[in-house]
Amino acid sequence: MAKIDITNLRKEFGDGGEQIVAVDDFNLTIEDGEFLVFVGPSGCGKTTTLRCIAGLEDVTSGSIQFNGEEVTDKRARERDVAMVFQNYALYPHMTVRKNIGFPLRLSTKRSSKEINTEVENVAEMLGLEPLLGQKPKELSGGQQQRVALGRAIIRDPEVFLMDEPLSNLDAKLRSTMRTELQELQQKLGVTTAYVTHDQTEAMAMGDRIAVLNRGELQQVGTASEVYRSPTNEFVAGFIGSPSINLFTVTIEGDTLSGPGGFEYTMSDASLIKDRDRVRVGIRPEDLNLVVGGSIPSDVSVVEEMGNENFLYAYMGNIDLTARIDSQIRPEEGASVTFGFDEDDLYLFDTETTEAIKTKTGDVDANYDQYVQAGR
Ligand code: ADP
Ligand code: MG
Repeated sequence: MAKIDITNLRKEFGDGGEQIVAVDDFNLTIEDGEFLVFVGPSGCGKTTTLRCIAGLEDVTSGSIQFNGEEVTDKRARERDVAMVFQNYALYPHMTVRKNIGFPLRLSTKRSSKEINTEVENVAEMLGLEPLLGQKPKELSGGQQQRVALGRAIIRDPEVFLMDEPLSNLDAKLRSTMRTELQELQQKLGVTTAYVTHDQTEAMAMGDRIAVLNRGELQQVGTASEVYRSPTNEFVAGFIGSPSINLFTVTIEGDTLSGPGGFEYTMSDASLIKDRDRVRVGIRPEDLNLVVGGSIPSDVSVVEEMGNENFLYAYMGNIDLTARIDSQIRPEEGASVTFGFDEDDLYLFDTETTEAIKTKTGDVDANYDQYVQAGR
């Protein structure tokens, strides 16, 4: 398998006229056997980065190495990568058996019998054995996606590259396929770079998540790291659903004052001394309905989710979202106040947008006792 080193990668599009910088000064190591997810809004450079790793795009500058070996100028078929796309591009006139076996018939001198055995092994892994004789149009979307995966797996590549492979599936199937893909990747241990614009999918799947914006890598970390310790306001806003609440406050001494009568005195103001303004971020689950809290607001809508309620409210002209107990359902227009723990408060620089303070507080110190060693 392969460790992938991406160094100072840059990719521009356009000739002569206006240049588009799709990927800018990108540095990242994907560890051997890791499942790394690229996530970011549409147009941020995810597909371009993946295509550069695959060898489907010439890079403008920078280098890509597999296991320390330079592959930057190697073509896709010399790189031992297998790609799976959103559009699975199965051959419509071929059976599932032929579709899965196709890469082997193309690239090896194996006998039909050997190829059939390998196809059957892969089909078994993916639960496709009963469908081997069928054509793609006879299959459901999920089954077609499994065939496309089978065609990637059978090549036994060093690297899997997957570009939004589940986005054509309905929500329920997508979540089943997420789990299947993760289990499969763990079993095969193949280094995988996976692209999605869906932060929930990224959080659920990745060993680590690489958050991109405007062609630039913002942060790489585990789900918990990007959630609890975002490097900047973009990452804080992109990761988490519903999104973090963000607003600007002025600082006087240790006290923050903001829109709609927000007022909070920091018990530790050391991080904001010498500043007169700061951006505040509070996650919806960290807003607690209390009496006389720092955040006065007027309820606009309550959405009942069953296990909890989403409360939408205005603090002055700022929209707030709070996740509250499913039993509590304030009327529209009701006045409420929220409180929060200072540990849960995020603060960002108003100019650079970089994080000044993120969540603190440790996980339960007894955690180790709850978890028995695995098999
Ligand atoms: P994502 O996959 O994150 O949605 P892309 O990597 O497809 O983003 O695109 C990044 C930027 O590069 C976008 O501005 C896009 O318009 C531009 N781009 C991508 N491919 C090409 C191309 N072949 N020619 C010109 N511009 C491109
Ligand atoms: Mg894309």
